[in-house]
Amino acid sequence: MNPIILRNATVLDPRAGELIPDRSVVIRNGRIEEVADAKAHAGDATVIDLRGRVLMPGLIDSHVHATQASSDFAELRSWSPYYAAARVSRLLREMLLRGFTTVRDMGGADHGVARAVEEGLFEGPRVLYGGPIIAPTGGHGLTEICDGETELRRAIRRQMALGAHHVKLTVSGGVISSMRIDALGFSEAEIRAAVDEAALAHRYVAGHAYTAEAVNRALRWGVRTIEHGNLIDGSSIELFRQHEAFYVPTLASFFALAREDAPHALSAESLAKLHHVRDAGIQALALADRAGIRIGYGTDLHGPLHAHQSMEFQLRSQVQKPADILRSATVTGAEIAGLVGSVGEIVPGAHADLLVVDGNPLEDIGLLADPERSLLLIMKGGGFVKNTL
Ligand code: ZN
Ligand code: ZN
Repeated sequence: MNPIILRNATVLDPRAGELIPDRSVVIRNGRIEEVADAKAHAGDATVIDLRGRVLMPGLIDSHVHATQASSDFAELRSWSPYYAAARVSRLLREMLLRGFTTVRDMGGADHGVARAVEEGLFEGPRVLYGGPIIAPTGGHGLTEICDGETELRRAIRRQMALGAHHVKLTVSGGVISSMRIDALGFSEAEIRAAVDEAALAHRYVAGHAYTAEAVNRALRWGVRTIEHGNLIDGSSIELFRQHEAFYVPTLASFFALAREDAPHALSAESLAKLHHVRDAGIQALALADRAGIRIGYGTDLHGPLHAHQSMEFQLRSQVQKPADILRSATVTGAEIAGLVGSVGEIVPGAHADLLVVDGNPLEDIGLLADPERSLLLIMKGGGFVKNTL
């Protein structure tokens, strides 16, 4: 394949939160070969002049459910696997068109989905998958039920044998489940066993948790990423720091579910929980942001609510600066995924996952909340997904 040169680019460096003008990015064999001055030259290259527009790394959503193509779990289970796969492929393509070139699946997607994308059968983001979510009896989620250390270790070994990138445990109740939101899932011995088992495979445990109590026990016992975490407090912040853990809020899901036109049949009890965690979630994010702990970009949407995946940018802008939100959705996502240097920044050797933005997202993060209009070019692995230049 001929090299591609994106010339005259204003390159966004999400680590520094800065723009670097007059750059040329040379792409060869799907990777960034060089970030040079504006006059980079290669005889046989395809050259695209960006005329000073902002070029940024592709986005990373650190909490998706790529296979939950319907909000109705009973309906999902009734689908033929062939039909389900077709729906998943459409979902993934839509994520890519919103600028997400890497996603971390937090329950549902498996090696088959990741392989279909890798082989180009599905056009979609790179998919980092776990296995089924692991919950205790009576716990929350569309899950594999495990009780006791032996069952946990067995389930995790099975997932690791299938190439899982992480394991997800539900260590507290949730909004949609009948389990109370402040109820705790798994004992200390069970969580420690899961963390140990994942570590044997050089992988890690992600924990679904809401309250500070649930979050704190998970952090103390080695859970590396906290999903949701809407009800954390100052005691949690200290533990995030001590254990170098990551916080992955998922505000979009609560706001999307609470919209009047949301296609769901939540019980009155679930709706009350929803409103509570939605409002607390913004305050929790503000607390985490002020404390400077590492925050990932997550959305946690199901079915048609996936259309709100980019709304998370807007929601976070109530309490965070654009540069910090951009860092969450790029380099911090790469750190969470263990892919630093491969995705999330424009550096030599990284996958050529790139976006051209019509405007400056460091000034107006709302641009990323409106990808159809604002993203002029989307590239994944050196291939054009969208190009209106
Ligand atoms: Zn969850
Ligand atoms: Zn989730």
